[in-house]
Amino acid sequence: MGLETERDCPPAQRQARADLTTTSDPVRAVPPLPHVKEIRMSYKSREKRRRARLAIERTRSERRETMRGRHYLCVVSRDGCCNECGTSLRIGADAVYRHTPREIFCLNCSSQLALKPRPSLAWERKEQRKRKKRRAGFLATYLASLEEGSK
Ligand SMILES: [Zn+2]
Repeated sequence: MGLETERDCPPAQRQARADLTTTSDPVRAVPPLPHVKEIRMSYKSREKRRRARLAIERTRSERRETMRGRHYLCVVSRDGCCNECGTSLRIGADAVYRHTPREIFCLNCSSQLALKPRPSLAWERKEQRKRKKRRAGFLATYLASLEEGSK
């Protein structure tokens, strides 16, 4: 199958192997690994991400006090209930939370109280996972439809 051979040897690796055979540098004893280019790339992007994360952590520790007084859209991690209407909030549900003074509301009450919560990190991660799942589901149905079409 054509697909299988392509998976065994992606274009980037093929390119690197071609470079190896054409180099005429007599000093170099050990030929470079064909993957070196890719590793360097991913190291760079990891470094970039690491710096961004450190910057966020620094800002977060500087503004800890102000952040405690804000309302955040978050994911419920312990069963509880809304401080306004008493609706039960189960683990994994979305809620609006403020650390100091401590209060937690369901989404209905938060909009009735005209709160403007910011998305929390945990909430954003959960949304990201949801989006990924949705995309994977779409891809699966799309591929299935392609297979159906080819029959
Ligand atoms: Zn409520």
